Amino acid sequence: MNKKTFRIGGIHPDDSKDTRGCAIEVLPLPDTVYVSMAQHLGAPAKPLVVPGESVRTGQVIAEPGGFISAFVHSPVSGTVKSVGPRKDIAGNWQTHVEIAVEGDVWEDGIDLSRKLITALPESREEILDKIRLNGVVGLGGATFPTHVKLNPAPGKKAECLIVNGAECEPFLTSDYRIMVERPKEIVVGAALMQKVLGGCRCVIAIEDNKPEAIEAMKDAVSFLAFPGISVCVLRKKYPQGGEKQLIDAIMGRQVKSGGLPIDVGAVVQNVGTALAVYEAVQKNKPLVTNILTVTGENVPVNMQHNYLFRIGVPLSFIINQAGGIPETACKIISGGPMMGKAVSNIDATTVKGSSSILYLPESVTARPAETQCIRCGRCADACPMGLEPFLLYRLIKAGDLAGLEENAVHDCIECGCCLYSCPAGIPLLDRIRIAKGQVIGIIRSRNVKK
Ligand code: SF4
Ligand code: SF4
Repeated sequence: MNKKTFRIGGIHPDDSKDTRGCAIEVLPLPDTVYVSMAQHLGAPAKPLVVPGESVRTGQVIAEPGGFISAFVHSPVSGTVKSVGPRKDIAGNWQTHVEIAVEGDVWEDGIDLSRKLITALPESREEILDKIRLNGVVGLGGATFPTHVKLNPAPGKKAECLIVNGAECEPFLTSDYRIMVERPKEIVVGAALMQKVLGGCRCVIAIEDNKPEAIEAMKDAVSFLAFPGISVCVLRKKYPQGGEKQLIDAIMGRQVKSGGLPIDVGAVVQNVGTALAVYEAVQKNKPLVTNILTVTGENVPVNMQHNYLFRIGVPLSFIINQAGGIPETACKIISGGPMMGKAVSNIDATTVKGSSSILYLPESVTARPAETQCIRCGRCADACPMGLEPFLLYRLIKAGDLAGLEENAVHDCIECGCCLYSCPAGIPLLDRIRIAKGQVIGIIRSRNVKK
């Protein structure tokens, strides 16, 4: 079979998915949780609780701070201890609600049973409202509020909903586990999103290194028999799970520089988001839990896990539950090794988008000494966005922001393929990421002045 994949660039790192066989375990509750107000793309949420107040699990504790924002709910029952600044994983100060855990009494009206509900609500507005009120955001990395993404601007129409089960980052298996353990719920979640989008076709995209997940999802699709939903097996290649790469692979369409998936009729949502949509709409359950993989290079088998965790649990609590920091670890990453962020503070809290705690030893994290660019072109061959990283690097060194914009640095998806491919040890991703931020800032301020 000729399996689909994206056409430009890409690399083939070892997938290292040793936690494939780790079934999802429920993480116990800690003594205290710290719920961040900045755990989605867009404006931070505004706290609605004050110290001393009692809260129940699933209760709204913060409201959206703008159009692109999301509700935040308490992941436990207990007493609010404080509302104030606390450092996130990168060391930036964000407002958190601190809650002393005193039990797990859920709000009324939330269905915690595992009974599958397949009948869809009549109206798309009802579905969208439940997704919004239950604080669902994209769980594939970007944490964009889901109700906004599922409501395209007037004049834009979705032709294809792509449900992303590629999980192309090495080491991560949380999406894999939910596809194996909760496939029917994911398919109902996909059908709900398909209905909101006006009944477009829906493709659940999975890489060919996940045969059990492919089988489970195909069985669920055929069992539930919603019209227009299918599974597409993709050839393994990183970054297959990038939105623009998935659209190219599935629809054969390319999103223009600066454009959005909906411009070519596509909406991409992660399998974890589909499960969260199912729980929000069919069970009235807010997004207060997610799945996270604990793994890494040379990590003993008994320290590798897939946990169902409450959002707001400190990383240090999960690390202790999993057996502590392995002796060989010299760096902890939140997310995958390619696009994840280094953890500078293990007392930081988990957020809606937390997908992994990854331990890497010095042999993996040590960078070779930087030497001169030898103009081999490997970085450009690997770039899935068709950029020329060696040229961007030259422009960065020259401080040429206009040249960087002209050469579309803002299209960089920060996948790290260029860094991975460069034999000269040039920190391409690190520099390009900073330049991209500067150029996006310039573009935004220009648009505001117009
Ligand atoms: S990090 Fe950016 S420049 Fe480098 S390969 Fe990925 S998209 Fe291209
Ligand atoms: S891969 Fe490295 S050495 Fe080769 S062209 Fe790109 S920046 Fe230069």
